[in-house]
Amino acid sequence: MTPDELKALVRTIPDFPKRGIQFRDITTLIGNGRGFSASVEWLAERVEGSQAIAGMEARGFIFGAAVAAHLGLPFLPIRKPGKLPCNTIGVDYELEYGLDRLEMDPLAVTPGQPVAIVDDLLATGGTALAATKLLRQAGAAVSRAAFVIDLPDLGGGRRLAEVDVKVDSLMSFE
Ligand code: IMP
Repeated sequence: MTPDELKALVRTIPDFPKRGIQFRDITTLIGNGRGFSASVEWLAERVEGSQAIAGMEARGFIFGAAVAAHLGLPFLPIRKPGKLPCNTIGVDYELEYGLDRLEMDPLAVTPGQPVAIVDDLLATGGTALAATKLLRQAGAAVSRAAFVIDLPDLGGGRRLAEVDVKVDSLMSFE
């Protein structure tokens, strides 16, 4: 399937979760078996050569875990606070309204291990920047991130480039 055909499988929901937001909904993309598989293959090609894949809760788990399994690589779950049963390290980051936090198992990576980030959507880049910081704190080498959707107007790609993370995205919405 072509990137344009895959883009046509993403559903846009106006005014969700609040008025004025055009929510790009990937559930219709993953609800199409060929579309899901083609998206995972596209992402996997971009992060090939990494030694592990990290994905952020929750939609990053869908694509990140599938990409990791496709490449036969470990999957590292980057979780919301209080979810992991082990000792964790965490990073606080700012959302449009308020603060959020991501956590991971610091023992999940080996020093210098090349880890790629996979998520469904790149907007301001705040989530992916926090995940990069966290993974680097654990000792990983993070230089690549792959997304299904980029919203380039929100500047996430530029912000990730500033911290030496190369970004690929399967499709974008202006
Ligand atoms: P950022 O941190 O501003 O780059 O926002 C990206 C995060 O917000 C990702 O983890 C997405 O899952 C989520 N997100 C933001 N906007 C959308 C959307 O339109 N559809 C789906 N997820 C979104």
